[in-house]
Amino acid sequence: MALLKPVEEPVEIHGRRHLEVFNPATLERIGEIEVSGREDVRSAVDRARKAFAEWSGLSFERRALYVRRARGLLVEGFDDFIDTLCRDTGKPRVEAVVELMIACDSLTYYARNARKLLRDERKSIRRTASRRLVLSYRPMGVVGLITPWNFPFSLSLNPAVQALMAGNAVVLKPSEFTPFTGLAIGRLFDEAELPPGVFQVLTGDGSTGTALVDAGCDKISFTGSASTGRQVAEACARQLVPCTLELGGKDPMIVCDDANVERAARAAVFGAFSNAGQSCGSTERLYVTERVAKPFIELVVELTQELRQGPEAVGEVDVGAIISPAQIDVIERHVQDAVAKGARVLTGGRRNPSYRGFFYEPTVLVDVNHDMEVMSEETFGPVLPIQVVRDEEEALQLANATRYGRTASVWTRDRTKGREFVNRIDAGYGIVNDSVVAHSIPESPFGGVKESGIGRVNGELGLKGFCNVQSVIVRRFGNKRELFGYPYTARKVRFLRRAVDLLYRSPLGKLLGG
Ligand code: NAD
Repeated sequence: MALLKPVEEPVEIHGRRHLEVFNPATLERIGEIEVSGREDVRSAVDRARKAFAEWSGLSFERRALYVRRARGLLVEGFDDFIDTLCRDTGKPRVEAVVELMIACDSLTYYARNARKLLRDERKSIRRTASRRLVLSYRPMGVVGLITPWNFPFSLSLNPAVQALMAGNAVVLKPSEFTPFTGLAIGRLFDEAELPPGVFQVLTGDGSTGTALVDAGCDKISFTGSASTGRQVAEACARQLVPCTLELGGKDPMIVCDDANVERAARAAVFGAFSNAGQSCGSTERLYVTERVAKPFIELVVELTQELRQGPEAVGEVDVGAIISPAQIDVIERHVQDAVAKGARVLTGGRRNPSYRGFFYEPTVLVDVNHDMEVMSEETFGPVLPIQVVRDEEEALQLANATRYGRTASVWTRDRTKGREFVNRIDAGYGIVNDSVVAHSIPESPFGGVKESGIGRVNGELGLKGFCNVQSVIVRRFGNKRELFGYPYTARKVRFLRRAVDLLYRSPLGKLLGG
């Protein structure tokens, strides 16, 4: 039987392209969406720009009222949102609930804190009392958000609420695999009675994303793969439009000699298999020192074999579906490549034959090395490759031997050592003795280094990323004539020359910090 795709090739109806969307866990058809074209995108951005004028003029308190109203509606309709999210993604119900809780937390945090985080910052200027510096965080205008399918609710709503609270209008292009979740967020803000045009959703595929990047937004916030991110960055660079890129990764976990083996094993299993391994903070590769390797690996395998997999409709399940046949092909290819090069499969290692939908069994691999794709390319599936290393220094070297740098976790009973150790890993997000919690902490900026991204979302830094920083110099008092102003005279040169000596050569200058 030919596998149905969760998203079929677009078909044309009355001159407009349409996509059919399927539940990846059951292959049931969920519905159909329109692919928004260039004209649709341009009109949405124009509408957003008009709406921006009024929205940016509202106080933080007024914006927060709308955001809190949206949270109230989200909580009221919680079960419907869970259903939509599960249908779009094929994830287990608990994971859908957690994702929506993250969204509630995000709505609450930014509604409560945006005013404080974005208030003007008054700074004094060294060596002059006559001027004051004020940093003002001004809204940018229209923000285009392009988001992926793995956490389609939180990864769309979270940057959206930050952009909105900072005073911007938002046009969201959700993933073509999970458009109904994106549309549900649109309805949420509509019902919260946000002024028309302040938040809009455009369904479509990559062509709609391209059109949004080209539509004259004032900022693009992109979350997705590194290859698409590169295209987005190139298009933004051509137009000199700022962009934030949250991209792929090959996140390492390091289990040190002195780790709590049981806690580390449980975290490894959760880190690798939650969201079926399709998380931006997934444990993609694991290094364990030879001293603790045996008990650690045995426990990981035991815990993995306890996991229940399937569509959420069959009852309690721990591991859900893979989003698409293309994604499952990548997983299968990585495992086959590893096995061909000498890796051993301790559990899993195949598609789950019990279901029609796209399921890959939670898989543990050992005897892996960096010549294998599973240790160098993003797998984004329920596969945990474990490499046994001599010591922590070898683990560190291997952890950094990648072009990615998103999250990294270190397991040790010595927290100070853990913090210092994680600092030495090239990663935007370091975790000591904890599992993937990354994007669920609104206080904490999230983002990658190397090919895992540019810029940060979340927290004060993320919120400020949706603003233009205006440096305002305020002259408090002064002489009629300016020291550096006209006329330029030989006397002025001599005076300034002496000032340089005084400031940077004399004992007094040194005392003043020169
Ligand atoms: P993707 O890059 O295929 O698609 C992401 C979005 O970009 C979709 O909405 C898609 O329609 C759109 N798009 C596709 N081509 C485009 C183009 N040329 N111009 C503009 N937009 C375009 O990614 P995906 O498969 O949806 O998501 C999985 C990837 O996202 C993984 O690599 C994962 O690591 C990454 N991810 C990163 C984070 C993070 O925070 N760093 C979070 C979640 C997912």
